[in-house]
Amino acid sequence: MLSWPTDVETTRATRRLFLMGLGGALTAAAVAPGRLLAGPREERVLSFFHTHTHERLTVPYFADGAYLPEGLSTLTSFLRDFRTGDEHPIDPALYDILNDLRLATGTNSPFQVISAYRSPRTNSMLRENGHGVAQGSLHLQGRAIDVRLADVGSAALRDTALELQRGGVGYYRGPDFVHVDTGRVRRW
Ligand SMILES: [Zn+2]
Repeated sequence: MLSWPTDVETTRATRRLFLMGLGGALTAAAVAPGRLLAGPREERVLSFFHTHTHERLTVPYFADGAYLPEGLSTLTSFLRDFRTGDEHPIDPALYDILNDLRLATGTNSPFQVISAYRSPRTNSMLRENGHGVAQGSLHLQGRAIDVRLADVGSAALRDTALELQRGGVGYYRGPDFVHVDTGRVRRW
């Protein structure tokens, strides 16, 4: 089973601030750094469109205070290395970052996936071809994902991710996507 540390705690204060968001829209002040926006028992559902495989997925991955093994398994397969087909468990905390980005931005769009899990073989290939991917990339550990949203600009998505302060955030203006991961809080 997965052994990632989980943080499903959230404060009532955070929740209250969230609910008090102006006209239902979340303001930056309501984002408590490092804390989950989703309630500890609230169902968490993510929707994706994979830009390479063109697959779509909407799946609940958390309900009644626990991660759902079936949902996590479906997501692991969906977020496989699309070049090699290799699968690797994904850190559920990464899903919580995406779910909180969904709540904080108010998006109605699925996350467009550019890259999720990367096998060592794929990472080496990308490095050799000068794609500027890191040798110790967290994509190799199932702890990073590159995404964009159709209805939220990538710069705004980056800003929201930075406010969460829950890991690394990278902004790629040209290819238009945001990298988020569950590593140390940092930005590039
Ligand atoms: Zn990335």
